Amino acid sequence: MILEASNLTFSYSTSPVVEDVSLKVEAGERLAIIGPNGSGKSTLLKLLSGFLKPASGEIRLGNASLKELSELERGRTLGYLPQQVSTFFPFTAGEMVQMAMSVHSRGFFDGRGEKSRAVEALRRVNMGGLFDQPFSQMSGGEQKLTLMARLLAQNSVFMLLDEPIASLDLGHAQTVLQLLNQEAKEGRGVVGVMHNLNLALSWFDRFLLMNKGRCVVSGDRKALLEPGRLEAVYATEFHRIKHPVSGRTYLLTDDKG
Ligand code: ADP
Ligand code: MG
Repeated sequence: MILEASNLTFSYSTSPVVEDVSLKVEAGERLAIIGPNGSGKSTLLKLLSGFLKPASGEIRLGNASLKELSELERGRTLGYLPQQVSTFFPFTAGEMVQMAMSVHSRGFFDGRGEKSRAVEALRRVNMGGLFDQPFSQMSGGEQKLTLMARLLAQNSVFMLLDEPIASLDLGHAQTVLQLLNQEAKEGRGVVGVMHNLNLALSWFDRFLLMNKGRCVVSGDRKALLEPGRLEAVYATEFHRIKHPVSGRTYLLTDDKG
């Protein structure tokens, strides 16, 4: 299956925050959306997930238009990890994860979801011991990992993740990136908003660089690393070195501390 967006434009008020953006992700591929704060990355992901409707342009999943899908069909096809979460409801981590499975059963949460799959999903993100922990009493990183477990349990064809490793320590960040790699190998399409350019370069196949609502680069590592491109968008200098293990290009910022 292919997730394809063509010429998406969206504005919250008058001026567009996403303008004429197109992209294509195949199942099995990992696409990183990168760009400075406020460049429209989260808005683009909300458009792809169907939470926001584009003012113009279209999103297609295989032969269907996203807007033609029922909520259940959408849930089976697209999983979404928000950048920020807040819940005032007294759900436990286990309940949060089990809710996502309802897209495969009856379509609503009845509290009797498949516990063992939820336990397994939490275990995969190193949160096995926190099944009964109230979600609202977790750290930001633990909440993010719980939502990651929920996404794994949802078992959708595409995973749309808004800053999946923000607020995670380096070890948990690697765990999540490895999981995304595994999920892609098993045939899921992964779209991730990433701030850490080096981790994006290591763990993703293709890149969409946003600036002021527009896509300024869409392509592979080589296209992204073309001299001057990242520098112009991020308005900072990058030094390019070779990673001592992989030999790949690694970006360093100035050492002026
Ligand atoms: P990014 O994720 O790249 O940091 P966003 O997509 O969150 O950027 O935001 C893009 C622009 O849209 C920003 O200028 C932001 O202030 C604005 N914006 C985001 N969400 C809203 C909203 N709910 N209402 C109005 N403006 C918003
Ligand atoms: Mg964002």
